[in-house]
Amino acid sequence: MSSRPFQICTNCVMDTTDAKIVFDARGVCDHCNNFYRNILPNWDTGERGRAALEKVVEQIKADGQGKQFDCIIGMSGGIDSSYLTWVAKEQLGLRPLVFHVDAGWNSQIAVNNIERLIDALELDLYTEVIDWEEMRNLQLAFFKAGVPHIDTPQDHAFFATMYNFAEKHGVRYILTGANLSTECIRNPIEWMYYQSDSIQLRDIHAKFGTRPLNKFPLTTILRHKVYLRYVKRIQVVAPLNYVPYLKQDAMRLLQEKFGWQPYPQKHFESRFTKFYESYWLPKKFGYDTRKVQYSSLILTKQMTREEALEKLSQPAYDAATVMQDFEYIATKLGITVAELQGYMDAPNKSYRDYKSQETIYLFGAKVMRMLGLEMGGKR
Ligand SMILES: [Zn+2]
Repeated sequence: MSSRPFQICTNCVMDTTDAKIVFDARGVCDHCNNFYRNILPNWDTGERGRAALEKVVEQIKADGQGKQFDCIIGMSGGIDSSYLTWVAKEQLGLRPLVFHVDAGWNSQIAVNNIERLIDALELDLYTEVIDWEEMRNLQLAFFKAGVPHIDTPQDHAFFATMYNFAEKHGVRYILTGANLSTECIRNPIEWMYYQSDSIQLRDIHAKFGTRPLNKFPLTTILRHKVYLRYVKRIQVVAPLNYVPYLKQDAMRLLQEKFGWQPYPQKHFESRFTKFYESYWLPKKFGYDTRKVQYSSLILTKQMTREEALEKLSQPAYDAATVMQDFEYIATKLGITVAELQGYMDAPNKSYRDYKSQETIYLFGAKVMRMLGLEMGGKR
């Protein structure tokens, strides 16, 4: 732990629990300054944005002619992917195949939400189930590794599966619910290292895994960012960046139209992620992802700083049910509560303690920024 005195941004709620945060003379953090300098001036959800999106949509439709569907949408059941699905079908007139990866941790609410949306919009749902024994073993390996980013196995499986499917079936467009409106600040690398880094995943698996990864879907940054993008011409499109996307409005629309049920917090559609983000990460490492989420909403004027501070004064987890969750996670992973507690109490490690491709990611991000292809990005 550093001896740096605690400081919180005067504009958002990011603070020195993000070790690399930098404040200017007014006490405004680099996340905020990056937003005002690089993101906001280049981000248009009005006419200009709509026109840019229309161009992409026309291309997607043209390329999809005669095909069963013209794009795929990765659906978690969460707010972003749910709203995106409605936008794609009803507003943009696309013919998406909705793609869901079941890594074993779906909450019942998520399952219901996906079903309701699919039925009402008359879309096809394709579900890929990840081999549970491999998944469980890999998740345990991450716990044993002592790193903060133990949600990597789920995340990696999600997009590796999408890319694999797209390549196999000649799908050219993957629609993602990723968006600036609720995610203009990203989790610092220290908190959540790149989940797509297969070198890191393999190293942690080699050191702590106890069974081979035969069926687990894998991808590498060079494969999906270079080979699939430029050779196979598979494009990832983020439509929510081109249209007005306000979380409360989107939630209301989904509730009214589909009987969609909200979650208490972003990413809580997965029972594992809920446990991880609300309890494990803040408790073991002092990293509270709500700070990133609320700060994004503050910057996009969907929450006041006071409201965020008030919410942050309460713990991220529900004290009444957290021990049940703890037991649920341990039982499902096939270990005892004491063993899981042992991982909680073990020394904290970072991604730097294992092999990684960080230099490639940093280089790639630099190139993307130079080309003006990326405004935000992790740091
Ligand atoms: Zn800030």
